[in-house]
Amino acid sequence: MTEPIWQLSQSHLNLLSICPRKFQYIYLEQFSSPCTVQQQSNLSLGNRFHRFMQQRELDLPTEQILAEDEPVRNSFNAIAQAAPDIVYPQPQTRRYSEHRRTLLKGQFLLTGIYDLLILSKNDAKIIDWKTYPQPPNKKQLTKNWQTRLYLYLLAETSEYSPEQIQLVYWFVNVPKKTSSFKFQYNQEQHQQTENDLNQLLNQLSDYWQRYQQKGESFLQVEESQGYCADCPFTIPCERYLNNDDFLFSEIEEVKI
Ligand code: SF4
Repeated sequence: MTEPIWQLSQSHLNLLSICPRKFQYIYLEQFSSPCTVQQQSNLSLGNRFHRFMQQRELDLPTEQILAEDEPVRNSFNAIAQAAPDIVYPQPQTRRYSEHRRTLLKGQFLLTGIYDLLILSKNDAKIIDWKTYPQPPNKKQLTKNWQTRLYLYLLAETSEYSPEQIQLVYWFVNVPKKTSSFKFQYNQEQHQQTENDLNQLLNQLSDYWQRYQQKGESFLQVEESQGYCADCPFTIPCERYLNNDDFLFSEIEEVKI
C-alpha cells in the first residue's frame, strides 16, 4: 500500500523535536489545548498585522486599516521607520508576500510560508514579522525549526547558494522598541540541517510504523527536560507535577 504524504511545517518539526508524544496527541489524535486570552489577543494583532502587510504588497487599499486599527498603524509606522529598505520596494528587486515553498522528501512534504521574500540578483532575503510581546533569545531562534527550515527550503528550491540567503525576524510590538535578528546562512549549516532533518524524519517514520502496526505510543520527552510542567497532557502521560489547575476535560477536540 502507498504511504500517505505528510505535510510538515516548522510547527510540526518543532513539536516533534521537543516531545514526539505531544506531536502524537496534537496532530494524530487531534487534541489541542485552549489558548489563553493573552495568547488570543497577540494572535489577533499578529493576524491583523500580517494581513495588512500582505495587502500592501498586493497593492490593495490599506487606508481604512491604518485609520481604524491603531495597534496595526503603530506597528507599521515603527517598522517603516526602522527598516524602510524592507518596507518599501527597492530598485532591481522582486518581492513576494506570503510566499510558499515546498520540498518533497520521501513521504514528507516540507512546507514553509514566508511573510515576505525579497530577491535580487545576488541575494535572497526572507522576512518574518513577529508581534511577540517579548522576543525569544537569538540562541533559541537559531535552533528553532522555523529558522532552519525556511533557510533550508530556499537553498534547496532556488538557484541561490546558502551564502546568498538570509532570514531576518522583525519584532514589532509597539510601544516596545522595534528590533531584528538576522541569520546569514552558509553551506555548513545547510549540511547540518539536512542531516538533522533526515534523522528527524526517519524517527517520525519509525514512530508512525510502530504506532500503526503495534499500537505503540510515540516517545515521551524526559521529565528532567522541564517541558512537562507547562504541558496540558500531564494526565494521559502520567506526569503528575503538582499541576492541580489543569483539567483534562478542558482539552477541546479540533480539526487539523
Ligand atoms: S506531559 Fe510531557 S511527555 Fe507528555 S506530552 Fe506533555 S511534554 Fe510530552
